[in-house]
Amino acid sequence: MAVLLALCAAVCCSALQTVGAKLYSNRYEGDQVLRIIPSSHVEIQLLKQLFQNITVDFWQPSSTSFIHMGSSVDVHVGRNSTGRLKAHLQQTHIHYKVLIPNLQKEMEKQAGNRSSRKRRSEFQYDYEVYHPLEEIQSWMFEMNRTHPHLVDMFSIGWSYEGRPLYVLKLGNRKRLHKKAMWIDCGVHAREWIGPAFCQWFVREAVNSYLRDSSMRRLMNQLNIYIMPVFNVDGYHYSWKTDRFWRKTRSKNAKYHCRGVDANRNWKVKWCDEGASLHPCDDTYCGPFPESEPEVKAVARFLRKHRKHVKAYISIHAYAQMLLYPYSYKYATIPNFDCVETAAQNAVSALYSAYGVRYRYGPASTTLYVSSGSSIDWAYKNGIPYAFAFELRDTGYYGFLLPEALIGPTCMETMRAVRAIASGLLKKCTS
Ligand SMILES: [Zn+2]
Repeated sequence: MAVLLALCAAVCCSALQTVGAKLYSNRYEGDQVLRIIPSSHVEIQLLKQLFQNITVDFWQPSSTSFIHMGSSVDVHVGRNSTGRLKAHLQQTHIHYKVLIPNLQKEMEKQAGNRSSRKRRSEFQYDYEVYHPLEEIQSWMFEMNRTHPHLVDMFSIGWSYEGRPLYVLKLGNRKRLHKKAMWIDCGVHAREWIGPAFCQWFVREAVNSYLRDSSMRRLMNQLNIYIMPVFNVDGYHYSWKTDRFWRKTRSKNAKYHCRGVDANRNWKVKWCDEGASLHPCDDTYCGPFPESEPEVKAVARFLRKHRKHVKAYISIHAYAQMLLYPYSYKYATIPNFDCVETAAQNAVSALYSAYGVRYRYGPASTTLYVSSGSSIDWAYKNGIPYAFAFELRDTGYYGFLLPEALIGPTCMETMRAVRAIASGLLKKCTS
């Protein structure tokens, strides 16, 4: 009970901090999020030139090189550049709209909603709010302590800044030689819905074990490894300093810019198309493959367990997509039929909850080409089902998905992940 009370105190405390004081020292006051919709190749070229002169934070896609026909570009623009950017867009007749007119206000509105929300119970962990790293870690200890027969907890290494990289192992411990599934969340720091989903998944798995026979079958026949926060340093930084931080926090010898894109740092076509060699870019691939201790730790763990691990799932946001290999090239994977069927089942299970539609397909054609990604690495290392989810939404709130949408988003995603997991228990013969 003492741990539970301490946990609750931490939760209450973090909610209170957001009242009154300016979040992130007011750094986003006047910043906007724009959706730019180029309608020709000429406009795309103009846009790329424009972004050489005006620095923006790319929300979707994650850099200029991914801008292509038929898709829009969501960017976060600093208050000093919004006027200039809009003037250029108007001059060149490139269509745009304002998604978020004042980023600081939007964040404060959401924080205000959070602190005014009535908490359910003194002793209950709230799965429908975002939690800082320390709370997520205390929660992991708590799940392990209260469900020792179903939840194991261990660390697979340390982050760049020396934080432990905790993983939970779910499953009935009595059976040996089980198939396994890996799920990671929070590879990109600002995608807060990811860690919220990982926690939701654990709660659902544990709570429904007794009353839901299909969940019981999953937990009896599978080991499910869950890493709620992959990029612990980045996630912590996104709470403390920069809400829109994406990368890890490693230092660079030559540049002042920090961090590597943990989804471009894997040893598979490393730093080829769709990754940047420049340390200041958000898609920086790092000085060498697995340079990031977080990536190295997960890669080492998966290599060690690859005989058993049949599915690798990485939870990202935002786009509402379910992606599978390849990311780095336009080619069809050998077991395409099995993977495509699994994706189809997952997406329709997801749709059955609230009617939210997800696009699905190979990452290269569905989203964009990117090299050094974790799904390609997992697939190349013998994991037959490798998926990346891009959760809600499609840009209305982007990375600032309100806490009121955590529940529905996690509920529907849970159905999709369960569909993939159930599929692993059957043999795919196509
Ligand atoms: Zn991501």
